[in-house]
Amino acid sequence: MRRKDFPCLDVKVHNKPLVYFDNAATAQRPQVVIDAINDYYTKTNANVHRGVHSLSGKATDLFENARISIATLLNAPSAKNLIFTRGCTEGINLVAQTFVRSRITRGDEIIVSEMEHHSNIVPWQLLCEQTGAILKVLPFDDNAELLIEQLDDLITDKTKFMSVVHASNSLGTINPVKQIVAIAHARGVPVLVDGAQAMPHIKVDVQGLNCDFYTVSGHKMYGPTGIGMLYGKMQHLEAMPPYHGGGEMISHVSFEKTIYNAVPAKFEAGTPNIAGAIGLGAAAQYIMQTGIENIHKADTELLTYATKQLLKVTGLRIIGTAKNKVSVIAFTLQGVHPHDLGTILDHYGVAIRTGHHCTMPAIKHFNVAATARVSFAFYNTKAEIDYFIASLKKAREMFV
Ligand code: PMP
Repeated sequence: MRRKDFPCLDVKVHNKPLVYFDNAATAQRPQVVIDAINDYYTKTNANVHRGVHSLSGKATDLFENARISIATLLNAPSAKNLIFTRGCTEGINLVAQTFVRSRITRGDEIIVSEMEHHSNIVPWQLLCEQTGAILKVLPFDDNAELLIEQLDDLITDKTKFMSVVHASNSLGTINPVKQIVAIAHARGVPVLVDGAQAMPHIKVDVQGLNCDFYTVSGHKMYGPTGIGMLYGKMQHLEAMPPYHGGGEMISHVSFEKTIYNAVPAKFEAGTPNIAGAIGLGAAAQYIMQTGIENIHKADTELLTYATKQLLKVTGLRIIGTAKNKVSVIAFTLQGVHPHDLGTILDHYGVAIRTGHHCTMPAIKHFNVAATARVSFAFYNTKAEIDYFIASLKKAREMFV
């Protein structure tokens, strides 16, 4: 499905056609994204929001149109609800150090889940170190499904914020975030949803979810690296202090007092990643034209097929067996260390990820130190899965 749109899928690795199964680490980019970046640098390169000259006006239009494209994709009430960031990591740090920091004191509590990416754990630990707040964890069961029924008991009068992943990058679980938000809101707790792995696979509707914040990672959703977006409810964005100080985020500066710019400029200090933003806008347009429902259907077929084939391999254990998953499969293979497996598969041209996938606590739950992980995008094929399984069996024969 639209495989030809992705030029990097045609490269060879060790003289073999590339089988790219590391999409959860970073997806491939379609030609339209590459062209959008190239066109900006070759035809409209100028700074945004500052120049009176035509080229700056054109660059500003492209940059702001990208914001509108993401707003449409996410069903945000307005493009003004969206702040350009470097990615999900920066979005989470921004919320921790502005919204949450300004309303938290010693002994207050923040809740995350057991399956968070390190970028949704460490920013909260830093905040706890700075303020004396306490980090609490909502656990998951052995199928990697969150124990939602424990959430209400976990929330206390001291709970000030919750941050949870929409889809896990290592276990694949799609969490019932709408339900989580409703439970937390009933107790007055605002919620951030980390959308890094959900955006490339499923329809996201921030108003439907009713979350307070939602983070987007460009490079996971077929866009450039080093760019992402933070969605926030307008009343929060307006009340929050700025994150970085500098140009662009001000409306007036004197040595006595600085007046900040309106949202979203208040959070976008300095010259932004203009090319990245334009590329991200092109990625959002590409997803909308392809149809997220079509993408999801293709991903799910690959997930179902690969799961079935993998379960036939002797000694293979799938880590993360939730009912509702994105196309990510982590596994261990008896007698073969994941790193050895990854290296051997690379010689067959198959790119997979090995290790803890930046989710050490989630992997520890299953008493393993590392796993291998395949993660599919809609442009992968069943033939690639067959080739991968055959290569996996050959690798196993070398060790067992
Ligand atoms: N959350 C999840 C679930 C992720 O998979 C990742 C990236 N692996 C991140 C956050 C961090 O995203 P970014 O690379 O945009 O900072």
